Amino acid sequence: MPQVIEHFIHGERVSGDDQPTQDVFTPATGEVSAQVPLADAAAVDAVVDSAQRGFEAWSAVNPQRRARVLLEWVRLINEHADELARGIAREHGKTIPDAHGDIQRGVEVVEFAAGAPHLLKGEFTSNAARGVDVHSAREPLGVVAGITPFNFPAMIPLWKAGIALAAGNAVVLKPSERCPSVPLRLAELGLEAGLPAGALNVVHGGKEAVDALIDDQRVQAVGFVGSTPIAQAIYSRATSQGKRAQCFGGAKNHLVIMPDADIDQAADALVGAAFGSAGERCMAVSVAVPVGEQTADRLVAALRERMGSLRLGASDDGSADFGPVVTRAAKERIEELIGAGEAEGAELLVDGRGARVAGHEDGFYVGATLFDRVTPQMRVYREEVFGPVLCVVRAADYEEALRLPSEHEFGNGVSIFTSDGGAARDFATRVNVGMVGVNVPIPVPIAYYSFGGWKASGFGDLNQYGTDGLKFYTKTKTVTTRWPSGVREGASFVMPRGS
Ligand code: NAD
Repeated sequence: MPQVIEHFIHGERVSGDDQPTQDVFTPATGEVSAQVPLADAAAVDAVVDSAQRGFEAWSAVNPQRRARVLLEWVRLINEHADELARGIAREHGKTIPDAHGDIQRGVEVVEFAAGAPHLLKGEFTSNAARGVDVHSAREPLGVVAGITPFNFPAMIPLWKAGIALAAGNAVVLKPSERCPSVPLRLAELGLEAGLPAGALNVVHGGKEAVDALIDDQRVQAVGFVGSTPIAQAIYSRATSQGKRAQCFGGAKNHLVIMPDADIDQAADALVGAAFGSAGERCMAVSVAVPVGEQTADRLVAALRERMGSLRLGASDDGSADFGPVVTRAAKERIEELIGAGEAEGAELLVDGRGARVAGHEDGFYVGATLFDRVTPQMRVYREEVFGPVLCVVRAADYEEALRLPSEHEFGNGVSIFTSDGGAARDFATRVNVGMVGVNVPIPVPIAYYSFGGWKASGFGDLNQYGTDGLKFYTKTKTVTTRWPSGVREGASFVMPRGS
Protein backbone atom coordinates (compact mmCIF):
# COMPACT_ATOMS: atom_id res chain seq x y z
CA MET A 1 0.00 0.00 0.00
CA PRO A 2 1.49 3.39 -0.89
CA GLN A 3 2.03 5.79 1.99
CA VAL A 4 -0.71 8.38 2.61
CA ILE A 5 0.79 11.82 3.05
CA GLU A 6 -0.51 13.82 5.98
CA HIS A 7 -1.57 17.44 6.44
CA PHE A 8 0.47 19.52 8.89
CA ILE A 9 -1.87 21.22 11.32
CA HIS A 10 -1.03 23.01 14.54
CA GLY A 11 2.45 21.52 14.72
CA GLU A 12 1.44 17.94 14.00
CA ARG A 13 1.03 15.58 11.10
CA VAL A 14 -2.68 14.94 10.78
CA SER A 15 -4.07 12.19 8.58
CA GLY A 16 -6.85 12.96 6.16
CA ASP A 17 -8.37 9.49 6.63
CA ASP A 18 -11.91 10.59 5.97
CA GLN A 19 -11.00 12.51 2.80
CA PRO A 20 -10.72 11.29 -0.78
CA THR A 21 -7.17 10.74 -2.01
CA GLN A 22 -5.24 11.21 -5.23
CA ASP A 23 -2.18 9.34 -6.51
CA VAL A 24 1.24 10.98 -6.26
CA PHE A 25 3.60 9.69 -8.94
CA THR A 26 7.30 9.21 -9.34
CA PRO A 27 7.57 10.58 -12.88
CA ALA A 28 10.93 8.88 -13.51
CA THR A 29 9.37 5.42 -13.23
CA GLY A 30 5.67 6.13 -13.66
CA GLU A 31 4.94 4.40 -10.34
CA VAL A 32 2.56 5.65 -7.68
CA SER A 33 4.74 6.63 -4.73
CA ALA A 34 2.07 7.87 -2.33
CA GLN A 35 -1.47 9.07 -1.94
CA VAL A 36 -2.40 12.61 -1.00
CA PRO A 37 -5.63 13.49 0.81
CA LEU A 38 -7.85 16.14 -0.71
CA ALA A 39 -9.16 18.32 2.11
CA ASP A 40 -12.84 19.25 2.20
CA ALA A 41 -14.33 22.45 3.60
CA ALA A 42 -14.51 21.04 7.14
CA ALA A 43 -10.81 20.15 7.11
CA VAL A 44 -9.93 23.62 5.82
CA ASP A 45 -12.02 25.18 8.59
CA ALA A 46 -9.94 23.29 11.17
CA VAL A 47 -6.69 24.43 9.54
CA VAL A 48 -7.72 28.08 9.50
CA ASP A 49 -8.80 27.76 13.12
CA SER A 50 -5.31 26.58 14.00
CA ALA A 51 -3.74 29.37 11.93
CA GLN A 52 -5.83 31.96 13.74
CA ARG A 53 -4.39 30.75 17.05
CA GLY A 54 -0.94 30.53 15.48
CA PHE A 55 -1.28 34.15 14.38
CA GLU A 56 -2.03 35.31 17.91
CA ALA A 57 1.13 33.64 19.21
CA TRP A 58 3.43 34.54 16.32
CA SER A 59 2.41 38.17 15.86
CA ALA A 60 3.17 38.74 19.56
CA VAL A 61 6.82 37.74 19.00
CA ASN A 62 8.97 40.78 18.30
CA PRO A 63 10.33 41.17 14.75
CA GLN A 64 13.95 40.48 15.68
CA ARG A 65 13.05 37.22 17.41
CA ARG A 66 10.90 36.23 14.47
CA ALA A 67 13.93 36.87 12.25
CA ARG A 68 16.03 34.59 14.43
CA VAL A 69 13.51 31.79 13.94
CA LEU A 70 13.70 32.33 10.18
CA LEU A 71 17.50 32.11 10.28
CA GLU A 72 17.28 28.87 12.20
CA TRP A 73 14.79 27.63 9.60
CA VAL A 74 17.34 28.42 6.90
CA ARG A 75 19.99 26.48 8.82
CA LEU A 76 17.73 23.45 9.16
CA ILE A 77 16.69 23.56 5.50
CA ASN A 78 20.34 23.63 4.47
CA GLU A 79 21.12 20.78 6.86
CA HIS A 80 18.33 18.71 5.26
CA ALA A 81 18.97 19.89 1.70
CA ASP A 82 19.94 16.44 0.38
CA GLU A 83 16.81 14.82 1.79
CA LEU A 84 14.63 17.64 0.46
CA ALA A 85 16.26 17.52 -2.98
CA ARG A 86 15.63 13.77 -3.20
CA GLY A 87 11.98 14.40 -2.28
CA ILE A 88 11.62 17.05 -4.97
CA ALA A 89 13.29 14.84 -7.58
CA ARG A 90 11.08 11.88 -6.64
CA GLU A 91 7.74 13.68 -6.97
CA HIS A 92 8.56 16.32 -9.57
CA GLY A 93 11.08 14.53 -11.78
CA LYS A 94 13.76 17.21 -11.96
CA THR A 95 17.39 16.16 -11.45
CA ILE A 96 18.98 16.27 -8.01
CA PRO A 97 21.31 19.24 -8.78
CA ASP A 98 18.33 21.14 -10.21
CA ALA A 99 16.31 20.29 -7.08
CA HIS A 100 19.09 21.84 -4.99
CA GLY A 101 18.61 25.03 -7.03
CA ASP A 102 14.88 24.90 -6.24
CA ILE A 103 15.72 24.86 -2.52
CA GLN A 104 18.47 27.47 -2.76
CA ARG A 105 16.37 30.09 -4.57
CA GLY A 106 13.72 29.68 -1.87
CA VAL A 107 16.22 29.88 0.98
CA GLU A 108 17.58 33.14 -0.44
CA VAL A 109 14.16 34.73 0.02
CA VAL A 110 13.94 33.53 3.63
CA GLU A 111 17.42 35.01 4.20
CA PHE A 112 16.15 38.30 2.80
CA ALA A 113 13.05 38.02 4.99
CA ALA A 114 15.25 37.73 8.07
CA GLY A 115 16.12 41.41 7.44
CA ALA A 116 12.45 42.34 7.71
CA PRO A 117 12.66 44.16 11.06
CA HIS A 118 14.35 46.99 9.21
CA LEU A 119 11.76 46.96 6.43
CA LEU A 120 8.82 46.84 8.84
CA LYS A 121 9.82 50.12 10.46
CA GLY A 122 7.25 52.82 9.93
CA GLU A 123 7.63 56.54 9.46
CA PHE A 124 7.59 59.33 12.03
CA THR A 125 7.03 63.04 11.79
CA SER A 126 7.55 65.20 14.81
CA ASN A 127 5.48 68.40 15.04
CA ALA A 128 3.36 67.70 11.99
CA ALA A 129 1.19 70.47 13.44
CA ARG A 130 1.67 72.33 16.67
CA GLY A 131 2.04 69.68 19.40
CA VAL A 132 1.08 66.91 16.97
CA ASP A 133 3.19 63.92 15.97
CA VAL A 134 2.39 61.39 13.27
CA HIS A 135 3.73 57.89 12.88
CA SER A 136 2.91 54.90 10.74
CA ALA A 137 3.43 51.21 11.37
CA ARG A 138 3.26 48.15 9.14
CA GLU A 139 1.11 45.51 10.79
CA PRO A 140 0.59 41.88 9.75
CA LEU A 141 -2.67 40.97 8.06
CA GLY A 142 -3.50 37.85 10.09
CA VAL A 143 -4.04 34.47 8.42
CA VAL A 144 -2.88 34.37 4.80
CA ALA A 145 -3.15 31.60 2.21
CA GLY A 146 -0.40 30.43 -0.16
CA ILE A 147 -1.49 28.27 -3.09
CA THR A 148 1.48 26.98 -4.99
CA PRO A 149 2.25 25.02 -8.20
CA PHE A 150 3.96 21.70 -8.72
CA ASN A 151 7.04 22.95 -10.50
CA PHE A 152 8.98 24.45 -7.56
CA PRO A 153 7.91 22.42 -4.52
CA ALA A 154 10.40 24.20 -2.23
CA MET A 155 11.10 27.59 -3.78
CA ILE A 156 7.60 28.98 -4.14
CA PRO A 157 6.30 27.81 -0.73
CA LEU A 158 9.41 29.47 0.76
CA TRP A 159 8.78 32.67 -1.22
CA LYS A 160 5.27 32.82 0.21
CA ALA A 161 5.89 31.65 3.76
CA GLY A 162 9.24 33.38 4.29
CA ILE A 163 7.95 36.88 3.67
CA ALA A 164 4.50 36.41 5.22
CA LEU A 165 5.96 34.94 8.42
CA ALA A 166 8.64 37.62 8.71
CA ALA A 167 5.85 40.19 8.76
CA GLY A 168 4.10 38.34 11.60
CA ASN A 169 1.32 36.57 9.68
CA ALA A 170 0.24 32.96 10.01
CA VAL A 171 0.32 30.99 6.77
CA VAL A 172 -1.89 28.24 5.43
CA LEU A 173 -0.01 26.65 2.57
CA LYS A 174 -1.95 24.64 0.00
CA PRO A 175 0.84 23.15 -2.12
CA SER A 176 0.38 21.28 -5.38
CA GLU A 177 -1.22 17.90 -4.84
CA ARG A 178 1.28 16.53 -7.39
CA CYS A 179 4.34 17.33 -5.22
CA PRO A 180 3.09 17.51 -1.63
CA SER A 181 5.87 15.93 0.48
CA VAL A 182 8.52 18.62 0.51
CA PRO A 183 6.24 21.52 1.54
CA LEU A 184 5.15 19.33 4.45
CA ARG A 185 8.78 18.76 5.50
CA LEU A 186 9.51 22.47 5.20
CA ALA A 187 6.69 23.25 7.62
CA GLU A 188 7.94 20.59 10.00
CA LEU A 189 11.41 22.12 9.92
CA GLY A 190 9.82 25.52 10.59
CA LEU A 191 8.28 24.17 13.77
CA GLU A 192 11.66 22.74 14.78
CA ALA A 193 13.21 26.15 14.13
CA GLY A 194 10.85 27.76 16.63
CA LEU A 195 7.65 28.72 14.83
CA PRO A 196 4.70 28.35 17.20
CA ALA A 197 2.14 25.67 16.33
CA GLY A 198 -0.28 26.97 13.72
CA ALA A 199 2.00 29.71 12.35
CA LEU A 200 2.68 27.56 9.27
CA ASN A 201 0.13 24.90 8.38
CA VAL A 202 0.02 22.74 5.26
CA VAL A 203 -3.25 21.46 3.90
CA HIS A 204 -3.43 19.31 0.78
CA GLY A 205 -6.19 19.39 -1.75
CA GLY A 206 -7.58 20.69 -4.99
CA LYS A 207 -10.32 23.11 -5.98
CA GLU A 208 -12.61 22.36 -3.02
CA ALA A 209 -9.86 23.12 -0.50
CA VAL A 210 -8.74 26.24 -2.37
CA ASP A 211 -12.27 27.62 -2.63
CA ALA A 212 -12.91 26.97 1.07
CA LEU A 213 -9.66 28.76 1.95
CA ILE A 214 -10.42 31.80 -0.16
CA ASP A 215 -13.99 32.02 1.13
CA ASP A 216 -13.05 31.71 4.81
CA GLN A 217 -13.66 35.11 6.37
CA ARG A 218 -10.58 34.70 8.60
CA VAL A 219 -8.23 34.44 5.59
CA GLN A 220 -7.08 37.97 4.81
CA ALA A 221 -4.94 37.54 1.72
CA VAL A 222 -4.33 35.03 -1.04
CA GLY A 223 -1.00 34.48 -2.75
CA PHE A 224 -1.24 32.16 -5.75
CA VAL A 225 1.20 30.82 -8.32
CA GLY A 226 0.11 28.46 -11.11
CA SER A 227 -1.51 28.46 -14.52
CA THR A 228 -3.19 31.57 -15.90
CA PRO A 229 -6.84 30.45 -15.97
CA ILE A 230 -6.67 29.39 -12.31
CA ALA A 231 -4.70 32.53 -11.35
CA GLN A 232 -7.36 34.71 -12.91
CA ALA A 233 -10.25 32.78 -11.33
CA ILE A 234 -8.65 32.90 -7.88
CA TYR A 235 -7.86 36.61 -8.23
CA SER A 236 -11.50 37.34 -9.07
CA ARG A 237 -12.87 35.15 -6.28
CA ALA A 238 -10.58 36.65 -3.62
CA THR A 239 -10.87 40.29 -4.66
CA SER A 240 -14.66 40.09 -5.05
CA GLN A 241 -14.68 39.39 -1.30
CA GLY A 242 -12.51 42.42 -0.64
CA LYS A 243 -9.36 40.38 -0.03
CA ARG A 244 -5.84 41.12 -1.10
CA ALA A 245 -4.63 38.84 -3.84
CA GLN A 246 -1.52 38.42 -5.94
CA CYS A 247 -1.89 35.66 -8.51
CA PHE A 248 0.89 34.72 -10.89
CA GLY A 249 0.21 32.72 -14.03
CA GLY A 250 1.76 31.09 -17.06
CA ALA A 251 4.43 32.31 -19.45
CA LYS A 252 5.89 32.24 -22.92
CA ASN A 253 9.38 33.60 -22.52
CA HIS A 254 11.26 34.80 -25.59
CA LEU A 255 15.01 35.13 -26.08
CA VAL A 256 16.04 37.53 -28.83
CA ILE A 257 19.38 36.88 -30.55
CA MET A 258 20.83 39.90 -32.33
CA PRO A 259 23.23 39.45 -35.28
CA ASP A 260 26.13 40.69 -33.11
CA ALA A 261 25.46 38.17 -30.30
CA ASP A 262 27.95 35.46 -29.46
CA ILE A 263 26.05 32.55 -31.05
CA ASP A 264 27.77 29.85 -28.98
CA GLN A 265 26.92 31.68 -25.79
CA ALA A 266 23.32 32.19 -26.91
CA ALA A 267 22.93 28.54 -27.96
CA ASP A 268 24.35 27.29 -24.64
CA ALA A 269 22.00 29.61 -22.78
CA LEU A 270 19.04 28.46 -24.85
CA VAL A 271 19.48 24.72 -24.37
CA GLY A 272 19.80 25.18 -20.61
CA ALA A 273 16.86 27.56 -20.35
CA ALA A 274 14.59 25.63 -22.73
CA PHE A 275 15.25 22.06 -21.64
CA GLY A 276 16.45 22.36 -18.03
CA SER A 277 13.83 20.94 -15.66
CA ALA A 278 12.17 19.54 -18.83
CA GLY A 279 10.96 23.06 -19.64
CA GLU A 280 8.70 23.04 -16.56
CA ARG A 281 9.78 26.44 -15.29
CA CYS A 282 7.70 29.58 -15.53
CA MET A 283 10.92 31.31 -16.61
CA ALA A 284 11.90 28.62 -19.14
CA VAL A 285 12.70 30.05 -22.55
CA SER A 286 10.32 28.52 -25.06
CA VAL A 287 10.78 30.92 -27.99
CA ALA A 288 14.07 31.88 -29.64
CA VAL A 289 13.91 34.93 -31.90
CA PRO A 290 17.00 35.26 -34.07
CA VAL A 291 17.17 38.54 -35.98
CA GLY A 292 17.95 38.05 -39.66
CA GLU A 293 18.19 34.87 -41.72
CA GLN A 294 21.95 34.49 -41.23
CA THR A 295 21.67 34.72 -37.46
CA ALA A 296 18.82 32.21 -37.58
CA ASP A 297 20.76 29.70 -39.68
CA ARG A 298 23.81 29.92 -37.42
CA LEU A 299 21.69 29.64 -34.28
CA VAL A 300 19.68 26.65 -35.50
CA ALA A 301 22.90 24.82 -36.47
CA ALA A 302 24.41 25.53 -33.04
CA LEU A 303 21.24 24.35 -31.28
CA ARG A 304 21.04 21.10 -33.27
CA GLU A 305 24.67 20.34 -32.50
CA ARG A 306 24.10 20.77 -28.77
CA MET A 307 20.82 18.91 -28.73
CA GLY A 308 22.53 15.87 -30.24
CA SER A 309 24.42 15.34 -27.00
CA LEU A 310 21.68 16.22 -24.49
CA ARG A 311 20.99 13.46 -22.02
CA LEU A 312 17.48 12.67 -20.87
CA GLY A 313 17.43 10.47 -17.79
CA ALA A 314 15.90 9.53 -14.48
CA SER A 315 15.98 12.18 -11.78
CA ASP A 316 18.66 10.34 -9.81
CA ASP A 317 20.88 9.78 -12.86
CA GLY A 318 23.85 12.02 -12.13
CA SER A 319 24.68 12.43 -15.81
CA ALA A 320 21.18 13.45 -16.95
CA ASP A 321 20.67 17.01 -18.20
CA PHE A 322 16.98 16.82 -17.48
CA GLY A 323 14.36 14.33 -16.36
CA PRO A 324 10.75 13.42 -17.05
CA VAL A 325 7.72 15.71 -17.01
CA VAL A 326 5.41 15.60 -14.03
CA THR A 327 2.54 13.34 -15.11
CA ARG A 328 1.42 11.13 -17.95
CA ALA A 329 -1.26 13.74 -18.75
CA ALA A 330 1.45 16.43 -19.05
CA LYS A 331 3.44 14.17 -21.41
CA GLU A 332 0.38 13.56 -23.57
CA ARG A 333 -0.51 17.26 -23.69
CA ILE A 334 3.03 18.24 -24.70
CA GLU A 335 3.15 15.55 -27.39
CA GLU A 336 -0.24 16.68 -28.69
CA LEU A 337 1.07 20.27 -28.97
CA ILE A 338 4.15 19.05 -30.84
CA GLY A 339 1.78 17.32 -33.27
CA ALA A 340 -0.24 20.53 -33.61
CA GLY A 341 2.91 22.52 -34.43
CA GLU A 342 3.84 20.01 -37.12
CA ALA A 343 0.30 20.03 -38.54
CA GLU A 344 0.28 23.83 -38.65
CA GLY A 345 3.42 23.87 -40.76
CA ALA A 346 6.30 24.53 -38.36
CA GLU A 347 9.53 22.69 -39.29
CA LEU A 348 10.05 19.95 -36.70
CA LEU A 349 13.85 19.63 -36.63
CA VAL A 350 14.19 17.51 -33.49
CA ASP A 351 11.20 15.46 -32.32
CA GLY A 352 11.12 14.47 -28.64
CA ARG A 353 7.94 12.42 -28.84
CA GLY A 354 8.15 8.77 -27.88
CA ALA A 355 11.40 9.27 -25.92
CA ARG A 356 12.37 6.27 -23.77
CA VAL A 357 14.83 5.88 -20.94
CA ALA A 358 16.18 2.33 -20.64
CA GLY A 359 14.99 0.63 -17.48
CA HIS A 360 12.27 3.25 -16.96
CA GLU A 361 9.92 2.49 -19.84
CA ASP A 362 6.83 3.68 -17.96
CA GLY A 363 8.37 7.05 -16.96
CA PHE A 364 6.86 10.28 -18.28
CA TYR A 365 9.64 11.25 -20.65
CA VAL A 366 9.56 13.77 -23.49
CA GLY A 367 12.79 14.43 -25.37
CA ALA A 368 14.13 17.86 -26.27
CA THR A 369 12.18 19.18 -29.25
CA LEU A 370 13.12 21.92 -31.71
CA PHE A 371 10.83 23.70 -34.16
CA ASP A 372 12.03 26.18 -36.76
CA ARG A 373 9.96 28.69 -38.76
CA VAL A 374 7.22 28.90 -36.16
CA THR A 375 4.77 31.77 -36.72
CA PRO A 376 2.75 33.76 -34.17
CA GLN A 377 -0.53 32.25 -35.36
CA MET A 378 0.44 28.68 -34.40
CA ARG A 379 -0.85 27.10 -31.19
CA VAL A 380 2.65 25.98 -30.26
CA TYR A 381 3.60 29.68 -30.19
CA ARG A 382 0.48 31.08 -28.55
CA GLU A 383 0.06 28.48 -25.78
CA GLU A 384 2.34 27.68 -22.88
CA VAL A 385 3.68 24.18 -23.61
CA PHE A 386 5.41 23.71 -20.25
CA GLY A 387 7.65 21.00 -21.65
CA PRO A 388 11.04 20.66 -23.38
CA VAL A 389 9.96 22.32 -26.62
CA LEU A 390 11.83 25.25 -28.17
CA CYS A 391 10.28 27.24 -31.03
CA VAL A 392 12.42 29.36 -33.34
CA VAL A 393 10.53 32.36 -34.72
CA ARG A 394 12.65 34.14 -37.32
CA ALA A 395 12.41 37.95 -37.14
CA ALA A 396 13.35 40.09 -40.14
CA ASP A 397 14.65 42.94 -37.99
CA TYR A 398 15.01 44.26 -34.44
CA GLU A 399 11.61 45.98 -34.37
CA GLU A 400 9.85 42.73 -35.26
CA ALA A 401 11.84 40.90 -32.57
CA LEU A 402 10.81 43.52 -30.01
CA ARG A 403 7.15 43.30 -31.05
CA LEU A 404 6.86 39.52 -30.61
CA PRO A 405 7.27 39.31 -26.80
CA SER A 406 5.64 42.72 -26.34
CA GLU A 407 2.46 41.64 -28.11
CA HIS A 408 2.30 38.11 -26.70
CA GLU A 409 -0.54 37.40 -24.28
CA PHE A 410 1.98 36.46 -21.56
CA GLY A 411 4.58 38.84 -20.17
CA ASN A 412 6.66 36.98 -17.60
CA GLY A 413 10.32 36.99 -18.72
CA VAL A 414 12.31 37.91 -21.81
CA SER A 415 15.98 38.20 -22.77
CA ILE A 416 18.15 39.73 -25.41
CA PHE A 417 21.59 38.49 -26.41
CA THR A 418 23.71 41.19 -28.02
CA SER A 419 27.04 42.95 -27.65
CA ASP A 420 25.47 46.34 -28.43
CA GLY A 421 24.71 48.22 -25.20
CA GLY A 422 22.45 50.66 -27.01
CA ALA A 423 20.27 47.88 -28.45
CA ALA A 424 20.11 46.17 -25.06
CA ARG A 425 19.07 49.38 -23.35
CA ASP A 426 16.43 50.15 -25.95
CA PHE A 427 15.05 46.62 -25.62
CA ALA A 428 14.95 46.65 -21.82
CA THR A 429 13.21 50.03 -21.89
CA ARG A 430 10.57 49.32 -24.51
CA VAL A 431 9.69 45.64 -24.13
CA ASN A 432 6.26 45.01 -22.58
CA VAL A 433 7.35 42.22 -20.22
CA GLY A 434 7.92 42.20 -16.45
CA MET A 435 11.39 40.63 -16.09
CA VAL A 436 14.16 41.27 -18.59
CA GLY A 437 17.59 39.70 -19.08
CA VAL A 438 20.51 41.07 -21.06
CA ASN A 439 22.83 38.22 -22.07
CA VAL A 440 21.20 36.29 -19.20
CA PRO A 441 18.84 33.48 -20.17
CA ILE A 442 16.55 33.20 -17.10
CA PRO A 443 16.28 36.62 -15.45
CA VAL A 444 14.73 35.50 -12.15
CA PRO A 445 15.34 38.53 -9.93
CA ILE A 446 17.48 37.97 -6.84
CA ALA A 447 15.76 37.87 -3.45
CA TYR A 448 16.03 41.58 -2.62
CA TYR A 449 14.36 42.63 -5.88
CA SER A 450 10.98 41.12 -6.64
CA PHE A 451 9.38 38.65 -9.03
CA GLY A 452 6.36 39.32 -11.17
CA GLY A 453 5.22 39.01 -14.74
CA TRP A 454 2.92 41.33 -16.67
CA LYS A 455 -0.21 40.86 -18.76
CA ALA A 456 -1.65 37.32 -18.41
CA SER A 457 1.35 36.27 -16.30
CA GLY A 458 0.30 38.18 -13.19
CA PHE A 459 -2.84 39.57 -11.55
CA GLY A 460 -2.53 42.11 -8.76
CA ASP A 461 -0.31 45.12 -8.34
CA LEU A 462 2.50 43.93 -6.08
CA ASN A 463 5.23 41.45 -6.97
CA GLN A 464 6.36 38.45 -4.96
CA TYR A 465 9.17 38.75 -2.37
CA GLY A 466 11.50 41.74 -1.98
CA THR A 467 10.01 44.90 -0.51
CA ASP A 468 6.87 44.41 -2.62
CA GLY A 469 6.29 41.12 -0.80
CA LEU A 470 6.47 42.82 2.58
CA LYS A 471 3.99 45.45 1.42
CA PHE A 472 1.63 42.74 0.26
CA TYR A 473 1.74 40.95 3.61
CA THR A 474 1.33 44.05 5.81
CA LYS A 475 -1.16 46.87 6.17
CA THR A 476 -0.26 50.40 7.12
CA LYS A 477 -1.60 52.01 10.25
CA THR A 478 -1.07 55.75 10.66
CA VAL A 479 -1.35 57.32 14.10
CA THR A 480 -1.77 61.06 14.71
CA THR A 481 -1.02 62.03 18.32
CA ARG A 482 -1.47 65.11 20.44
CA TRP A 483 -0.95 64.99 24.20
CA PRO A 484 -3.58 66.63 26.43
CA SER A 485 -1.12 69.25 27.62
CA GLY A 486 -0.96 70.51 24.02
CA VAL A 487 -4.78 70.92 23.63
CA ARG A 488 -5.57 74.54 24.30
CA GLU A 489 -7.81 75.83 21.49
CA GLY A 490 -11.20 74.23 22.25
CA ALA A 491 -13.40 72.74 19.52
CA SER A 492 -12.58 73.38 15.85
CA PHE A 493 -15.05 72.91 12.98
CA VAL A 494 -12.72 73.23 10.00
CA MET A 495 -10.48 70.52 8.52
CA PRO A 496 -7.15 70.62 10.36
CA ARG A 497 -4.25 71.59 8.12
CA GLY A 498 -0.55 70.80 8.44
CA SER A 499 0.37 74.36 9.25
P1 NAD B 1 -2.09 24.78 -11.64
O1 NAD B 1 -2.76 26.06 -11.98
O2 NAD B 1 -2.64 23.52 -12.20
O3 NAD B 1 -2.08 24.57 -10.05
C1 NAD B 1 -1.59 25.55 -9.18
C2 NAD B 1 -2.29 25.42 -7.83
O4 NAD B 1 -3.69 25.65 -8.01
C3 NAD B 1 -2.16 24.03 -7.21
O5 NAD B 1 -1.98 24.18 -5.83
C4 NAD B 1 -3.50 23.39 -7.53
O6 NAD B 1 -3.89 22.45 -6.57
C5 NAD B 1 -4.45 24.56 -7.53
N1 NAD B 1 -5.58 24.38 -8.43
C6 NAD B 1 -5.62 23.65 -9.57
N2 NAD B 1 -6.83 23.75 -10.15
C7 NAD B 1 -7.58 24.56 -9.37
C8 NAD B 1 -8.91 25.06 -9.45
N3 NAD B 1 -9.71 24.73 -10.45
N4 NAD B 1 -9.35 25.88 -8.47
C9 NAD B 1 -8.54 26.23 -7.45
N5 NAD B 1 -7.26 25.78 -7.33
C10 NAD B 1 -6.78 24.97 -8.28
O7 NAD B 1 -0.55 24.97 -12.03
P2 NAD B 1 0.59 23.87 -12.03
O8 NAD B 1 0.37 22.95 -13.20
O9 NAD B 1 0.76 23.28 -10.70
O10 NAD B 1 1.88 24.78 -12.31
C11 NAD B 1 2.33 25.11 -13.58
C12 NAD B 1 1.88 26.50 -13.97
O11 NAD B 1 2.34 27.44 -13.01
C13 NAD B 1 2.47 26.96 -15.29
O12 NAD B 1 1.47 27.64 -16.00
C14 NAD B 1 3.59 27.89 -14.88
O13 NAD B 1 3.94 28.86 -15.83
C15 NAD B 1 3.00 28.53 -13.68
N6 NAD B 1 4.00 29.11 -12.81
C16 NAD B 1 4.05 30.47 -12.74
C17 NAD B 1 5.00 31.09 -11.95
C18 NAD B 1 5.04 32.58 -11.84
O14 NAD B 1 5.63 33.08 -10.88
N7 NAD B 1 4.43 33.31 -12.76
C19 NAD B 1 5.91 30.30 -11.24
C20 NAD B 1 5.83 28.90 -11.33
C21 NAD B 1 4.86 28.33 -12.12
